[in-house]
Formats: sequence, C-alpha cells, structure tokens
Amino acid sequence: MLKTYIPITEAKEIILSNVKELPAESITTTESYGRHVSEDIVSPFNLPASDNSAMDGFAVSSNELLGASKDSPITLKIIDEIYAGKSSEVTVTKGTCVRIFTGAKMPKGADAVVRQEDVKYDNNNATFFSPVEKGTDIREAGDDVKKGQIILTKGTKITPAAIGLLAALNIHSVKVFKRPKVYILATGNELIELGKQLSPNKIVNSNSYALSTMVMENGGVPIYGGIATDSEETIMAHFEKAKEADIVITTGGVSVGEYDLVKDSFAKKGVEWLFWKVKIRPGQPVAFGRYNSTLFFGLPGNPVSAMVTFDQFVRPAILKMMGNEKAERMRFFAISTDDIKKKQDRTHFLRARLFSSEGELYVEVKKNQSSAAISTMLDANCYIILEENKTKIKKGDKVLVEVFKI
Ligand code: AMP
Ligand code: MG
Repeated sequence: MLKTYIPITEAKEIILSNVKELPAESITTTESYGRHVSEDIVSPFNLPASDNSAMDGFAVSSNELLGASKDSPITLKIIDEIYAGKSSEVTVTKGTCVRIFTGAKMPKGADAVVRQEDVKYDNNNATFFSPVEKGTDIREAGDDVKKGQIILTKGTKITPAAIGLLAALNIHSVKVFKRPKVYILATGNELIELGKQLSPNKIVNSNSYALSTMVMENGGVPIYGGIATDSEETIMAHFEKAKEADIVITTGGVSVGEYDLVKDSFAKKGVEWLFWKVKIRPGQPVAFGRYNSTLFFGLPGNPVSAMVTFDQFVRPAILKMMGNEKAERMRFFAISTDDIKKKQDRTHFLRARLFSSEGELYVEVKKNQSSAAISTMLDANCYIILEENKTKIKKGDKVLVEVFKI
C-alpha cells in the first residue's frame, strides 16, 4: 500500500524493513579497505603473543630491588641480552638481571623492566637506585587483544586500524559483504550529458555524478544509467537493466507535474511503491518502492534535494545491505550563530557549517537554502535539523546538528 506524506522516521523504518543483506565474498586483507565484514572476526591468538618489554632497559625481579635508593643502590649481574626477535632461555635468578630492548620477550623469573635512563650500567653489571613495582613497563600477553576476542563485529567497516590489526593477527583474507550495485537514472527533457554542447534550455545532468560519488563513498558500486527523457517509454526502457541492480535511484520526475512520470512508468513494470512524499525539506517528493529484492528510490531532481534524500534514505539502505545497521550519523547540539525561522510543517535539514571557537561548537546556517543551490552543499559540513514543530531559533540557542563531512 502506498503511504504518503509520512514522517521521516516512518519512511526510514519502511526502507530498512525492506533491506536484505547481500551475499559475502572472500577477499585479501590488503584489498579490504572500506569493505564491511560479513561475520564477526575473532582473534586467533593473544596480542602480544607473550609478555614483552615496553622499554629499552633491564628485566629484573622486583623483589631484588626492594630497598634500593640513591644512598644504597643495588647492583645486579647482567646474564643475557634480549632484543626483539631473539628468544632467550635464561632465567633471572637472585642477584641477576637481563639487558632487554623494546618488544623483546620477557625472560623467566623477571616481573618488571627498569628503563635504561634510570640505571647505571656497563657490560657486566647494572646498578639500580630505586625499587620497581611488579609489572612496570611490561606489555602483558593479550594486553591488546585476547585470543578468542571479537575484534570486528559483523557489518563493521574496515578502516586502516582494522587492517593493521588483521595483519598483526596474521589474518590475510576476510569475508566481506558484496558491494551493492546502484543503478542511477536521471530523468528530464532539459538534461544533457556532461561535456556535450550546452544550449539555452539545457542543463548538465549533474545529479548522476554527485550521487555516483555518494554511492562510492558509502561502499556501493554505481552504474551510470544515463538520461531518460520525460516519457513513459524511455523511462520504462531502463527497467530491464535497472532491476538487475540492488538499488535503483532515479532523479527528477517524482513531483506532481505533468512530466513527473517516474512512479507510473515503473509501476507499469511491476514496481510496488511503498511511500511517496515525506515530511522533510528539502526532498519532500521522494518516493520508495521495490521490485523483488531491488529497492527503487525516486529522488527529487533539485540537486540539493537529491543529495539530502540520498543521505537520509539511500545511504542507510546501502549500509544495511552490508550488515551495518548503525548508519545514523553523529548528532549533537551546537550553538546557533543565527536567528532562524520556519513554519510548523516539516523536518528541515538546513545546510550549515559547524566550527569550533574557544572550545565551543558553533553552527552557522548557509544563507541560500534553495534546493537548487548546490554550491551551498559544497560549503556545508552539517545539517541543522529542525523538527516539525520547531519554528524559531534565536542566535545563541542550541540546535541539533548532523555532521556529514569532517
Ligand atoms: P524535477 O524534479 O524533475 O521537477 O526537477 C526539479 C529541478 O531539478 C529542475 O529544475 C530540474 O532541471 C533539476 N534537475 C532535474 N534533474 C537534474 C539532474 N540530473 N541534474 C541537475 N539538475 C536536475
Ligand atoms: Mg523533471
């Protein structure tokens, strides 16, 4: 059943309840940046694998240094030298210590490291001037990661640190979700391809490129579907190819005008539209439907509306297909530098710039909020979100912001 003019929260629920996770594939860890793991990844061993020294210095038994001071230093005999990569079978016994370097495995019998800056030493003996607490400057086995611990939960995006940790654990291949394929179709008689000769009544199809980039940014694979003119036949002609994708995005042609044919054209091909129009601004005419497991998003044509509705509706779907249900962006309060007024109608997403000054977070609304003004999207790094019933913001008030760019 087609719902219309629904709140944004309901729209998101409808979308997410129609998302299915994609199949998984195995790839090498070195190629996995930006992908999402398809199962929990468990550490195969302790990291570090054994107790080792955090400093260049001397491995000692803390009992030996009880009572050491400037006035009555204690001297121990150096019985071995261990550097990272070398193993040593010696045991630190009464009256002895071991010269040790950062990362080297602790010898038996030692329970602390004294950094070399605090020791007077030659090749044979080391003199200590204070006691040392047990455990000092030792990195314990499993201190970083314990054997059997989940290091990446299903759906987590693989970051540089994740790759570092996977490599440290000698995990050289990972199972990740396949990337969603996203077919992008622009509609409008006024559109021409990028790089073609412009004429007075034409504009470049810029939406497809902005949206392709957003698809890539979120881990999907964009498929450029080109431009359809405002006719049912041309739009319908894209259906066969479009339905092979995981997601179809159209821009333009979803409003109430005579030339807004996207919904009807795809409905004739069997797409079931689940909602049309959401109580947001910009982006009110957005439509959502499905055909088998392919999700259809009819985004408005205005460049800012297209980007905002992608961000709010398509992005969570892409991420959920890759197991990540926590797609919510960071939201918090910041101090408005402006007076803002709005009608008590829809949830507004105002393009704005978040900045910090003397430890406080401020947000400055962009003056031009036209949904055709894409340059203000470029300058903005966040939205100010004004809920339906919010009508007035005074300079100095705290407002809710959602950051989309750092
Ligand atoms: P529509 O939703 O089709 O009424 O389009 C709304 C506005 O967005 C119109 O001014 C269109 O010219 C513009 N527009 C539609 N599609 C695109 C596109 N692919 N690239 C840039 N602007 C577009
Ligand atoms: Mg149009």
